[in-house]
Parts: sequence; C-alpha cells; structure tokens
Amino acid sequence: GERAPCARSGGRQRTLAMIKPDAAASEEEIVALAHRHGLRVVARRRLNLSPAEVRLFYREHRARPFFPSLVSFMTSGPVVALVLEGEDAVPAWRELMGPTNSQTARAVARASIRAQYGTDGQRNAVHGSDSPCSAQREVSFFFGARSLVPIQLRLIFDRMVAM
Ligand code: GDP
Ligand code: MG
Repeated sequence: GERAPCARSGGRQRTLAMIKPDAAASEEEIVALAHRHGLRVVARRRLNLSPAEVRLFYREHRARPFFPSLVSFMTSGPVVALVLEGEDAVPAWRELMGPTNSQTARAVARASIRAQYGTDGQRNAVHGSDSPCSAQREVSFFFGARSLVPIQLRLIFDRMVAM
C-alpha cells in the first residue's frame, strides 16, 4: 500500500517544540526536562514573533474565537523554538507537555510541563507538533531557508521553491 507522507519507519523522530512567552524565563529548566526524557536538542532559537508570523504558524485556528487573544499572547515576549530528536519524539514531547489546558494538566498530569509552568487554556507554557507532518512543516517554519525570508515575501518564496 501507499506510505503516509512524513511517516518514518524507524523510531527516531524530530519534533518542533516551542517555549511560549509565559515560560521563556524557565527556558533552561524546560530544556533540562526534555534532556532527562531522552530528547536531544538539535537546534535552538530565541526570537520574537510578529503578529503575522503567529497568524501563519497557528493558521488552522484562525476561525476560532480565541485567535486574536492567542496572537497577542504569542507576541507578548520572546519564544524559544527547539528541534528535539529522539525515540518517538513527536508523541514523547506531547506526553511530557501534558494536556492543552494547564488547569486540566494539574488535575490529571501533575508532572507535566504545562502543569508546572502554565496557567490556563491559553497561557500553557509550551507548544509541540501534533504529527510527523506538522513537525516537518513547523521545523522549516523556524529553521528552514524559508524562515530567513521576510513574512511579506514568503508566498512568493514558496512559489519559487515549488517550481
Ligand atoms: P495544543 O496543540 O495542545 O497546543 O492545542 P491546540 O492546537 O488546540 O491550540 C493551540 C493553542 O491555542 C493552545 O496551546 C493554546 O495556547 C491556545 N488555545 C487552544 N484552545 C484554547 C481555548 O479554548 N481558549 C484559549 N484562550 N486559547 C486556546
Ligand atoms: Mg496544536
């Protein structure tokens, strides 16, 4: 049969992790937690996202009522983008993050990063790719040649790359 695009046969994977503005001050502690869970940092970048970049990164959520508020939160301070590599890195990092809502995380996954460093359903400390396909797209968002192109030129750049 046909193989799913982005699926990897082996157990070694890469995922895109992001420390959000509410937890950027705890960068070293969070990176240490990832290490302790067998996830190696292969790339790391601290940066401020523009509103346009957040809208692009979270475009699947653009119709949700919380979108404008998510954009202001994500531009309220620096974020840290990380490429993590390890055995089943995509689900392993999601597991370590805990549930989306930090209050839920404190009820059901007390050891998780969101339980320890997050506040609520929006200010939840970290991001993690939800699939190997998202991981590929999100890693190039922050670390591909594309990430060096100003946001206003990216559509043109993408068209050039596709040719
Ligand atoms: P994730 O994959 O666990 O980060 O969750 P989603 O992809 O569903 O949502 C992306 C991000 O949007 C979350 O991490 C939150 O920061 C924010 N978010 C999600 N759901 C809500 C919500 O119901 N209310 C608010 N204010 N923010 C939300
Ligand atoms: Mg998500």
